[in-house]
Formats: sequence, structure tokens, C-alpha cells
Amino acid sequence: MAEFKANPRNRVMRYPKRAAYDAATVHAILDEGLVCHVSFVMDGQPFIIPTIHARMGDQLLLHGLKGGRMLEHINAGNPLAVAVTLLDGLVLARTVFNHSMNYRSVVLFGRGASIEEPAHKLEALRCLTEHVCRGRWADARPPTEKELQATTIVGIDIEDASAKIRKGPPGDADDELEWPTWAGVLPLPTIPQPAETDPRQQDALPVPAYVRDYRR
Ligand SMILES: Cc1cc2nc3c(=O)[nH]c(=O)nc-3n(C[C@H](O)[C@H](O)[C@H](O)COP(=O)(O)OP(=O)(O)OC[C@H]3O[C@@H](n4cnc5c(N)ncnc54)[C@H](O)[C@@H]3O)c2cc1C
Repeated sequence: MAEFKANPRNRVMRYPKRAAYDAATVHAILDEGLVCHVSFVMDGQPFIIPTIHARMGDQLLLHGLKGGRMLEHINAGNPLAVAVTLLDGLVLARTVFNHSMNYRSVVLFGRGASIEEPAHKLEALRCLTEHVCRGRWADARPPTEKELQATTIVGIDIEDASAKIRKGPPGDADDELEWPTWAGVLPLPTIPQPAETDPRQQDALPVPAYVRDYRR
């Protein structure tokens, strides 16, 4: 799918100029984000759960221990909304009113089902692992049959999605520029710090290049 069609569910009404519906933009934000928030309604009560995600083609993957409430609810075919947010900076305006954040975010809607076929499930697990840290799958011990059995992975078909992107300086109006305070953007990129080796590490192994040079 090259483009998600805007409809009453996913059309960005507030600041529509910040919206994008093309799959390339939506996928790039999903792929860069490390955490998503999954929302669903059970018995009239809305819930929201932060968790790891990954994209496998047109599907969003979530995983967890078998029997988890959220994954069982998804596997039962219930509708979901998911948000992924990348924070790029603080927008410090002259007016309190115009303070904001620079961001790239996605909201998507869909339904999912658990992935059961063994090769498919393993590939989904590889996708999740590589999403978090590219290069890790080849180095970590593969999952055992018991671990695979204990893990539920759901694939969510993305029915509708939208991206919203705010970038650039504060939006103060021309007649507000005289207020005598600094204004601008404080970029907040995700920059990893030096890796901390596990104190129980048995062999004196170097930090792998994919950890040392980790970037989102
Ligand atoms: C880091 C961050 C900070 C923000 N801070 C504020 C804030 O303080 N106050 C505030 O009002 N808004 C803030 N926003 C914007 C907020 O996400 C909403 O876009 C905005 O509040 C409008 O919500 P709405 O339901 O009225 O939008 P509508 O435009 O009516 O939403 C319609 C549809 O557009 C899509 N959509 C809406 N927002 C987004 C989004 N952010 N990303 C992708 N799709 C979207 C959804 O599919 C939604 O169902 C922030 C966003 C981010 C990412």
C-alpha cells in the first residue's frame, strides 16, 4: 500500500498541513520509534498500554508473555488504536501560548491476530529483535521451543494510519516578536551513551560495533 486513504477516522483535522498519509512516511516513523502506545476498550473502559513494536511489511507486530490481557484482547479480533511518537525538540516561544514540541507521530487503527505458524513466528521475533537493535539477532541465543511457546506475537493489519509532523521555529505572530526573551528550538535527539557491560559477563568480549555505533 503506497498511501493510507484519509477518512473520518484518520483524517488530521487540527493543523492538517502537518499531516501525511503516504506509507513511506508512516513506516519511517514506525521504524524509528522504539515504543508504541496501544489503546483498546474493554467493557466500556478505555485502556492504554506502552509496549515494544516492530513493523513487518504492512503489519505492526506486538509480543509478550502468553496469556497477557492486551494480546488476548487483540487476538480476539478487537479494534485497536496505536500511537508512535518521536520527540524531536522543545519549541520555546515568546508567548506561553505558542510553546510546543517538534515531533513526528503516527496514529494507526487496525485489528490483529496471533502468529502461530512456527517459521512465521520466528521471523516475527527476528523482526522485533532487529527493530530494537539491528545486528542482535545473529548474536543472541535463538529462542528455545519452550520460550517460543511462552511467547505470543500478534500481527496487526494496519487499516488506517496518519502521520503528523511539526518542525521548525516557534509560531509567534509578527506583532509578538518584541517580547524580550530568547525564543527558539531545543533539539532533543536520541543519542545513546556508552554501553554498560553486564557485571556477570563471563568472557572479556568487546562491545559489538552495532551497540557502540547505535543510532535510531
Ligand atoms: C509530542 C507531542 C506533543 C503534543 N502536544 C500537544 C498539546 O500539548 N496539545 C494539543 O492539543 N496537541 C498536542 N499534540 C498534537 C496532538 O497529538 C493532536 O494532534 C491534537 O491534540 C489534535 O487532537 P484532535 O483529536 O483534536 O485531532 P484531530 O485532528 O481531530 O484528529 C483526527 C485524527 O487525526 C489523526 N491524528 C491526530 N493527531 C495525530 C498525531 N499527533 N499523529 C498522527 N495522527 C494524528 C488521528 O487519526 C485522529 O483520529 C502533540 C503531539 C505530539 C506528538
